[in-house]
Amino acid sequence: MSTSAFSTKDYVRRMERAAGQAAEAGLAGILVSPGPDLTYFTGYRPTAVTERITLLILDTDREPVMMVPVLERPDAEPAPGAAAVSLVDWADGDDPYAALASLLDPVGHYAVSDSAWAMHLLGLQRSVPGSRYSAMTDVLPMLRAVKESDEVDRLAAAGAAADAAYRDILGVSFAGRSERDIGAQLAGFLREHGHSQVDFTIVGSGPNGANPHHEMSDRIVRNGDTVILDFGGLCAGYGSDTTRTVHVGPATDEERQVFDVVRRAQQAAFEAVRPGVTCQEIDRVARRVIGDAGYGRYFIHRTGHGIGLTTHEPPYLVEGELQPLVPGMCFSIEPGIYLPGRFGVRIEDIVTVTEDGGRRLNNTARDMHVVS
Ligand code: ZN
Ligand code: ZN
Ligand code: ZN
Repeated sequence: MSTSAFSTKDYVRRMERAAGQAAEAGLAGILVSPGPDLTYFTGYRPTAVTERITLLILDTDREPVMMVPVLERPDAEPAPGAAAVSLVDWADGDDPYAALASLLDPVGHYAVSDSAWAMHLLGLQRSVPGSRYSAMTDVLPMLRAVKESDEVDRLAAAGAAADAAYRDILGVSFAGRSERDIGAQLAGFLREHGHSQVDFTIVGSGPNGANPHHEMSDRIVRNGDTVILDFGGLCAGYGSDTTRTVHVGPATDEERQVFDVVRRAQQAAFEAVRPGVTCQEIDRVARRVIGDAGYGRYFIHRTGHGIGLTTHEPPYLVEGELQPLVPGMCFSIEPGIYLPGRFGVRIEDIVTVTEDGGRRLNNTARDMHVVS
């Protein structure tokens, strides 16, 4: 498995492909702000994102240019992608937006990173009044959605680390401890297995599991509880996101039945994954299994979301998303059933699309594990 750093060549290929996609979409180019987009195109992560503008311009018919505050130039220069772009710096007291006007098509339509600051976009609109801007997600939603094989390898490594953390948590005792305590221990296991950042460790026990937005609380887990564990973060820069539902002591027939419906829905959606099938169809497949079992009104969220440099990004597996699946896309499949005031069940794996179907990047057992 390749874990070597991305090279200047890798970033150049991404920038060229993005410029091509922008041209196809009728755009003058792409304006990239600090955050996952800038990391994707250059490997550059400014240590602090401030009111001083940093902006990479990927024009469809000009060489890439990155504008940086002069005091941050020494940080930007060593980034492997920066070696392939012209750096233009600006100093306090300059008007960076006026300087940017000379680098932009005065009547161009640009896609802008979702995370761009409003003050920067408004500054551009003021200094280039004939230009037009759209959010990246609105005009180029699939910009980072199709992963290269090196990226899939990183996501697989993150998935394997999350799997190892899950195996560890199965060995601890649940009954008599707070959700917060168990969550902290799970976060520790994720770090032990190589996560540099833990974004969430949801522990939803008993009735708390029926609220998909629940994170964790001081509720003490008891024998008889169903417990949703949904956890993830970043490992070598790429995301993990896994859910398993465990039970403290023996489960009731009803709990087993609900669990089985979710497991079949997750499996059916996974088996439906192949190139050309729409995102919406994967959602429908999961929803059909749950609906047929009579629990349709208790599956209250989309079936999944893309994952990469962030833990939530396009494509979204949701009704109305007609984007066909493409080999290299990576996303969660995470159906659930939430019975208000009682308990919830969710099962989530990260799946990548291959030429002949889906491949799971999480491989721990999907049965209802009994913990103590
Ligand atoms: Zn129970
Ligand atoms: Zn999750
Ligand atoms: Zn998820």
